[in-house]
Amino acid sequence: MRADLILLNTCSVREKPVRKLLTRIGELTKHNLSGIIGICGCVAQQEGEDLLRRSPSVGFILGPGQLHRVGEALRAVDQGHRPVLTGFDTETGYDVRTIFRTSSTRGMVTVIEGCNEYCTFCVVPYTRGPEVSRPMETILQEVRSLARNGIREVELLGQTINAYRCPATGADLADLLEALAGIEGLARIRFITSHPRLFDDRLIRVLARHRHLSRYLHLPFQAGSDTVLARMRRRYTREEYLDLIGRIRAAVPDINLSTDVIVGFPGETEKDFRQTLDLLESVRFGQVFAFAYSPRPRTPAARYDAQVPEPVKKERLARLFELTDAISAELNAALVGSTLPVLIDGDSRRDPGDWQGRTEDNRVVNFPKPEATAVGDIVTVRITRASAHSLYGEAMNTGPHRLPVLDGEPSDDRATA
Ligand code: SF4
Repeated sequence: MRADLILLNTCSVREKPVRKLLTRIGELTKHNLSGIIGICGCVAQQEGEDLLRRSPSVGFILGPGQLHRVGEALRAVDQGHRPVLTGFDTETGYDVRTIFRTSSTRGMVTVIEGCNEYCTFCVVPYTRGPEVSRPMETILQEVRSLARNGIREVELLGQTINAYRCPATGADLADLLEALAGIEGLARIRFITSHPRLFDDRLIRVLARHRHLSRYLHLPFQAGSDTVLARMRRRYTREEYLDLIGRIRAAVPDINLSTDVIVGFPGETEKDFRQTLDLLESVRFGQVFAFAYSPRPRTPAARYDAQVPEPVKKERLARLFELTDAISAELNAALVGSTLPVLIDGDSRRDPGDWQGRTEDNRVVNFPKPEATAVGDIVTVRITRASAHSLYGEAMNTGPHRLPVLDGEPSDDRATA
């Protein structure tokens, strides 16, 4: 196989992807597969010139704030240079006009880039720059066009999505969701990732009001101990987080919550870790994304004393997964026997005779393909079996399986966990 240009897009939130990138560059160089190798994304921003020094076969470096300059980079390579284009221009923001989408049912739409929070463990503010929101009107235009082209589910993206502020009007995420909820043809609207500190009651009211705002919410808490939260600079306490969860659940009782957790943050004691387990037990998240802490370049926590030994991190992570898998399995088991609207995403990975789809609250469901159903349909599925990470079921009825786009009142009779 031969390519004139290979672009490697990179993430540096954890350490492993950086090592993977260097291995991948080595492989490409060894097999002489490429004309030009360009490194894009956060590792490009973070490593800059260093990457060129370490990898002579790399042609250019393009940070996440410079993607619109790919043509300029290629022209420079043509003239014998190895350009390093990094940094951020907060005036122009990001060029997101042309996005290639592989899913015919789901469209991802960036609404805010960057982050101003500077959590002490996180490299994002250094690699993605300060927060830059897109004008609300351009987001609405993009989503209307997606809906016209058959996209049923839109996922709004931002590192701190609830920090969104339209640069033209000052509209916030609650305003944006209200406006998007009125777009004809859209069945579901999701948004990730929310910062607990910025989640206000107005946003909760909008979630409660519009049924086709997804019943799934990702709300990272990171640690259950106030001492660790303060050292992470999260700027909320355990009590404030739990209070927020209580308010969200009071307004939207069937919400499926997911979260991020870091295990083994510097200075984390066994007592601190047990507070994390305790919080997980009391909230009972549908999904938990947990990671062992790894020091990231330029972040304050990388220089903190009392780094937790790797075997201790590993052991804590295993205990955490044991608990969270048991909780997810219980929550999913409680759905057996209920009927849920499922948006068909495509073939099941395990069996091409089955569809794979998602519920309104973002749970994966596999079920045998009924006749006359297609990707993008919303079908009613009776749940017959559950595991910790998936649901299995069968489509209801033998007639037309397609449901209308959800609007207004709830249309399913699910038994919530
Ligand atoms: S809010 Fe999220 S993206 Fe921003 S610094 Fe903290 S962890 Fe990183």
